[in-house]
Amino acid sequence: MNQVKKWGAEEFWGLGFEFDPQWLLTDEQKELQAKLIELARTTLRDNAIQSDKKLLFPRKNFEALSKLGLLGLLVPKELGGLGQNHVCAAMVVETIARYGCPSTAMCYTMHTGAVAAALLRHHGNDTLKDILRRVDRDVLIGTLSYSDPETGSHFWYPISSGAEKVDGGYKVRKKASWTTSGGFADWYVIQTTSPDFGGNYSDLTCWLVTKDEVKAEPSKWDGLGLRGNQSGTLEVDDVVLSADRMVGPKGDGASSNDEAVDPFFLLCSSSCWNGISLGMIDIAKGHTTKKKHVDVGMRVCDYPTIQDYVGEAIIDTNASRALVFQMAKAMDQLTNDCDWSIHEDVSKLPRAQVLHWMWQVKFKAAKTVTQVSDKMLHACGGTGYKPGLGIERLLRDGKAGWVMGPTNEVLRQFVGKSALLGFASLDYWNQAVNERVLTNEIKKLDPAAKRQLAERLVAEASGKAAE
Ligand SMILES: Cc1cc2nc3c(=O)[nH]c(=O)nc-3n(C[C@H](O)[C@H](O)[C@H](O)COP(=O)(O)OP(=O)(O)OC[C@H]3O[C@@H](n4cnc5c(N)ncnc54)[C@H](O)[C@@H]3O)c2cc1C
Repeated sequence: MNQVKKWGAEEFWGLGFEFDPQWLLTDEQKELQAKLIELARTTLRDNAIQSDKKLLFPRKNFEALSKLGLLGLLVPKELGGLGQNHVCAAMVVETIARYGCPSTAMCYTMHTGAVAAALLRHHGNDTLKDILRRVDRDVLIGTLSYSDPETGSHFWYPISSGAEKVDGGYKVRKKASWTTSGGFADWYVIQTTSPDFGGNYSDLTCWLVTKDEVKAEPSKWDGLGLRGNQSGTLEVDDVVLSADRMVGPKGDGASSNDEAVDPFFLLCSSSCWNGISLGMIDIAKGHTTKKKHVDVGMRVCDYPTIQDYVGEAIIDTNASRALVFQMAKAMDQLTNDCDWSIHEDVSKLPRAQVLHWMWQVKFKAAKTVTQVSDKMLHACGGTGYKPGLGIERLLRDGKAGWVMGPTNEVLRQFVGKSALLGFASLDYWNQAVNERVLTNEIKKLDPAAKRQLAERLVAEASGKAAE
């Protein structure tokens, strides 16, 4: 707790370690955190400005992260990685976003999600193992391509996709409306309906696709914030993939979502939003403790109003961090400290048990960043409104939190609905009939309309086109 946070040779100008939950980190993790803060100071932070101004993909930042072995953060030591756990992943993303570059933190979040999906099913798959072994050495950036143009933020419902068995493997097609690092990543985990799909959209399969097999249009990317994350459209156009490119067994998509993709996306993206909140509080401290009003002889930080803003922002952000790290710890406990060997048994899905907690984690972090960004802008006044201070960019970056799928509208409904009506009521794939609604609507029909409906249904049921 007495450790002094450094910014190069100086003491850090934002919040010190007294407001960070350092007790959660091992010595090795604290060492990594210190190296990462230094890397942010020397490299990541300046590149963030360029990424924002020029819509520049942060490859340079990834090259720098690879020097610390961070692309293989979760990769077991036997495969050459750092073999780290959920707590460390949360700390790393938060640190990149806070002191360095939120676009890089988001690309790194998607990379981590792709690594998790690959690690979940790498047992017995030499192609996946080969990528995992080389992520740092060859700076192999991964990402997740899920969202479908037909289903918006319901990214678990890939209508414009599919796969079929052909000679030499599987012919795969995919249309994605958004893909972080799209066209810049070296490898992609994508999800389609399964080969032999028979109309059941919960029957999903994951695939590994490489950069030469995708069509991306990065020139069309633009956005309010996270401008370096390059989340453009992506297409896989009937590409034939060998059998080893199937990530996990056929039909494993829903399990892969619940056990790897969602838990890591929700954990790391929440850490990104908390990192942005902290980055803004740091800037607000740096600015308000320097800026003076000569007429009253006060600095901006001397006004109780500004102290209240900062106090509330710290409390809200640390409440959100407490939830993130509590769930990171819970997942560490459930998985023997993120031991991927437990998944040699494909039926083992411990993280999926706490997915509804991860929904709460993401909702809280994305909500908090919008409130904190508003207040930190107010605390810095007109100076905060101008790009120079950096608050303005972080405010735009943080806005992505609420709208990224699963969106906060969807998440609060998932939590409330499952609490009130049970998990089965969530009906991700639109399969369960709501008898209450059906009965109520039919009640409104007069006898003739009922007869007409009944005839249409009988015709449909017997396979004839209804007139
Ligand atoms: C910066 C950024 C990076 C991204 N990166 C990736 C990526 O790497 N991979 C990927 O697959 N996707 C990615 N996405 C896509 C993201 O996850 C969502 O799919 C996307 O933001 C949805 O946008 P939309 O316009 O289709 O929203 P819509 O789905 O049309 O939503 C519009 C509104 O409807 C609400 N809504 C939707 N469903 C419901 C419901 N059931 N109940 C109540 N309200 C509802 C939403 O909450 C929202 O308010 C990214 C998005 C952003 C902004």
